[in-house]
Amino acid sequence: MAQLSDDCFAFGGPLMAVDEAVRLIAERVTRVADVETVSLADGDGRILAGDLVAPLPLPPFTNSAVDGYAIASCDLPHETARSFPLAGRVQAGAAANAAERGHAVRIFTGAPMPEGTDTVFMQEDVSIDDAGRVVLPAGLRPGANVRPAGEDIPQGTVALQAGQRLRPQDVALAAAFGLTELEVVRRLRVAVFSTGDELASPGTPRRAPQLFDSNRFMLMAMLKRLGCDVSDLGILRDERVSLASGLKQVASRHDLILTTGGVSTGEEDHVKSAVESVGKLVLWRMAIKPGRPVAMGIIGGVPLIGLPGNPVASFVTFVHVVRPTVLALLGAKPAPLIPMPVRAAFSYKKKAGRREYVRVFLHKREDGTLEAQKFPREGAGLLSSLVETDGLAELEEAVTRVEPGDSIGFLFYASLL
Ligand code: AMP
Ligand code: MG
Repeated sequence: MAQLSDDCFAFGGPLMAVDEAVRLIAERVTRVADVETVSLADGDGRILAGDLVAPLPLPPFTNSAVDGYAIASCDLPHETARSFPLAGRVQAGAAANAAERGHAVRIFTGAPMPEGTDTVFMQEDVSIDDAGRVVLPAGLRPGANVRPAGEDIPQGTVALQAGQRLRPQDVALAAAFGLTELEVVRRLRVAVFSTGDELASPGTPRRAPQLFDSNRFMLMAMLKRLGCDVSDLGILRDERVSLASGLKQVASRHDLILTTGGVSTGEEDHVKSAVESVGKLVLWRMAIKPGRPVAMGIIGGVPLIGLPGNPVASFVTFVHVVRPTVLALLGAKPAPLIPMPVRAAFSYKKKAGRREYVRVFLHKREDGTLEAQKFPREGAGLLSSLVETDGLAELEEAVTRVEPGDSIGFLFYASLL
């Protein structure tokens, strides 16, 4: 269980910049203590608990990078081609005998370099004369076409750092060391609930003034992509006393509580007061659009994040507040989102001083440049705007207008989680 101090989310200023939120979270949220061992096959997506030090050099032995002929570099022809008698043959997986001076050894990709050789001619560059000797051209660099032991990763160096969120290539590296298991941070247990009397759960009857709860399923899916174990706690009705005791119980069994809805200011809202009665609540007014205030709380040392109810605001604030919190609770290395530059194919006006995320389609034009087209409508409640577009254009705080042809930052949805 994460044990955070009650005031860890306290913030002095009136408006919190997105980067400030990410920085505060990374600074104040500490990693859960428990680690567990998983098999390599289950390593993808998990967070490495400690540094992985290379137990072997990679490659483990010096070998040929090509199919060809190995010789000693002191025998390399300098001015004109020279022929060499052939002595020996070594293929991948076979042990190599020491080579005789002045001879060439037939060798194949991945085969160990015979002792006494250090350079390989590609078979395409070589001919065999009538006497069966190998004719090697002049001009090859000593050590060419050889993969020295440890050139990829020297033994004893840190090959993967603690906090690495394991990707398929990281798992491959562990396998290349002959490891079968990895020590990772245990999965986070995250409680998710929606709030609001206007919500009906899919599968239950919907009264005419209600809408089906979609955010909870979006947020649970996003959390699962971040590798969390999610408890679906359904929809909370606005009733302070039962809410408060529910929250307290949930906190004792989870590492993070996530809610959606009911965090706009000035609203008669029972989630906020429920949190206040069993823990500590602060509202972060974030300089971000879409996204209204985000509620940050601590109940019994466990963080609570209350996201806005509008689906697009909920999505965007998840990315900038929940994602860094989850990564910090897991002790993952900070993973800044780096937008790629694309051309705007739209005009847009915005207020200075806040970050905006615009839902866009991405096109590749005939000249090869990438162009972002804005979704035609702007409401933060339009789920179709998230479903149909390819990602978010990120408009920095200082920007006040965008014109067609301007360079803007683009983030693919797939890169956000
Ligand atoms: P709120 O932040 O609670 O004021 O909610 C703002 C609007 O977001 C509501 O009027 C609903 O239209 C919508 N909304 C709130 N919660 C959800 C939810 N769980 N799923 C889908 N839409 C929601
Ligand atoms: Mg509400």
